[in-house]
Amino acid sequence: MAGYDYDLFVIGGGSGGVRAARVAAALGKRVAIAEEYRFGGTCVIRGCVPKKLYVYASQFPEHFADAAGYGWTVPEASFDWQTLVANKDKEIARLEAIYKRNVEGSGGETFHSRAVVVDHHSIYLVAEDRTVSADQILIATGGRPAPHPALSGHEYCIFSNEAFDLKQLPKAIMIEGGGYIAVEFANIFHGLGVDTTLVYRGQEILSRFDMDLRRSLHETMEKKGIKILCPAVSEWVRKNPEGRLDVLLSSGQTLTVDQVMLAIGRIPNTENMGLEGVGVELGKTGAIVVDKYSRTNVDHIWAIGDVTHRVQLTPVAIHEAMCFIETAFKNNPTAPDHDTIPTAVFSQPEIGTVGLSEDDAIKRYPDVEIYRASFRPMRHTLSGRDEKMLMKLVVDSASRKVIGAHIMGPDAGEMAQLLGIPLKAGLTKDDFDRTMAVHPTAAEELVTMYKPTYRVKNGERV
Ligand SMILES: Cc1cc2nc3c(=O)[nH]c(=O)nc-3n(C[C@H](O)[C@H](O)[C@H](O)COP(=O)(O)OP(=O)(O)OC[C@H]3O[C@@H](n4cnc5c(N)ncnc54)[C@H](O)[C@@H]3O)c2cc1C
Repeated sequence: MAGYDYDLFVIGGGSGGVRAARVAAALGKRVAIAEEYRFGGTCVIRGCVPKKLYVYASQFPEHFADAAGYGWTVPEASFDWQTLVANKDKEIARLEAIYKRNVEGSGGETFHSRAVVVDHHSIYLVAEDRTVSADQILIATGGRPAPHPALSGHEYCIFSNEAFDLKQLPKAIMIEGGGYIAVEFANIFHGLGVDTTLVYRGQEILSRFDMDLRRSLHETMEKKGIKILCPAVSEWVRKNPEGRLDVLLSSGQTLTVDQVMLAIGRIPNTENMGLEGVGVELGKTGAIVVDKYSRTNVDHIWAIGDVTHRVQLTPVAIHEAMCFIETAFKNNPTAPDHDTIPTAVFSQPEIGTVGLSEDDAIKRYPDVEIYRASFRPMRHTLSGRDEKMLMKLVVDSASRKVIGAHIMGPDAGEMAQLLGIPLKAGLTKDDFDRTMAVHPTAAEELVTMYKPTYRVKNGERV
């Protein structure tokens, strides 16, 4: 080990890479990390953080409208996109500095450079034009929006990266995709006053979520004025003489918008990194193939986070980083646990979910109880907002374990975080039933649904 410049070299300064570098350095290891763009990675610079800030911004029109029922008169509000972008930029610059400082403060060295793997122990730093050596190499280069070169006119389209920094807010936007990024941006743009159309090739938005939530969110978004066209895909995009974009859809319909955003998936950042040259195995999508300890097929080279295409979420990348540290530096082999991951969609209304959807549960369990409540949350009584909250528990009748919890409504993401604990702990519906409610809250519904709404036995609803 002593013959190398570093004990650990991390490529990629995002959620996973920074965590691994910081913790390894704090253990006294000689650590360096290279980031080619900005420390903080996707989550901080062009993902979770700016997205959530924009979600907050886009919720104000509804807050202003709801205030009247509570006695407030709100003068006509106006919105300035440039102010939002500038304030977002300030906040992410602050976070970026903290991420970098945290590594350096723990004794790690940071490089602002693209890094390329040369051999099992060597890394070439492009900006420095030099090669360094390390005992262990960790690849945490994340992913980026999937391009769509087959789409005629794709050069006119933007991706989530650009959506954060548009010079001007468009009057009308079409977003293609049905995953959480597409859905969240549809709600953001709509909330900010943009005429928004979501186009998705599947039958229903948000595949992999519980169908009840998918349908309810779809309906609620449409009621707010977001147009959702599915199943459909765009056939071509053309610039018209007015400088706007015409889009032909597979349904035959033509849309005219100012911006087309593609959110059709993400691909791993593994190109031109020297990985093939050293024999690191890549999967079909270009993602790095790892074993359960995040080890690649090449000795001394590891990979974590989005670049491995396991579960693409920030807390997962961080968890994988912590497990990597245990395995590589603490002589305590630890495999990341990807089971029962709570997650949220910051749509409006929000979705929070953990565990199995009803459809997945009935495929795995012969007898499933569904507890379901749909109600108007108290905050919408005086406001008069016609929006329902949905809560649903999926229970395995045999063991009584709660195996899925799904919420749509205000603060659903916060609730999903807390529900993650009892579901991970394998608690039963009886444990939920004997938990005292907190009144008056919306969440109390989760411990007061005593009778199953219905039961699904061997695939039959009874
Ligand atoms: C719009 C959007 C919203 C999201 N919202 C959420 C959310 O609400 N909740 C959630 O949990 N997750 C969210 N995510 C996902 C989350 O951002 C990622 O799962 C997470 O950032 C993955 O971390 P990572 O460390 O694997 O990679 P990243 O954070 O992507 O970091 C990889 C870094 O490596 C750098 N890099 C790449 N190649 C090289 C190289 N050769 N040399 C040097 N540096 C390199 C990149 O510049 C990047 O900074 C969102 C993502 C997007 C795009």
